Amino acid sequence: MIKSHGPAFRKQAMELAQCPACRGKAVIKGVFHDLACVQCNASGWVAGATGEALPVDELVTQLSLRLQAAQRQINELKEPRVSGPEAIYQDNNRRGAGGSNRTLD
Ligand SMILES: [Zn+2]
Repeated sequence: MIKSHGPAFRKQAMELAQCPACRGKAVIKGVFHDLACVQCNASGWVAGATGEALPVDELVTQLSLRLQAAQRQINELKEPRVSGPEAIYQDNNRRGAGGSNRTLD
C-alpha cells in the first residue's frame, strides 16, 4: 500500500516545460490586471513528462534546483575559466582559502 504514489524521498530535478497556457510568464493578461495562471500554479512551469502543474511543495523544490543550476551557470559566465597554467593557479588559490564549502548566495 505504501509503495506507490507518495512523495519521493530523494529530491531530484525533473524535466520542466514551459506552461502552454501562460507561455512561461506565470500570469495571464487580464483586461485590468494580470491573473495568476492556474494551469501551472502561477510558476510558468509544468511537469515536462505530463504537462501538468506540479504540486506547490514540489514546485518550490524543483524551482530551487533549477535556480541553483542557473546560478552556477551565471557564476561560471562571470568568472570564465581561463585555460592554461594560469587557470590552474587561480583555481588552487580559490579553493585553498575558503575550504570545501560552497555557498550559493
Ligand atoms: Zn501557466
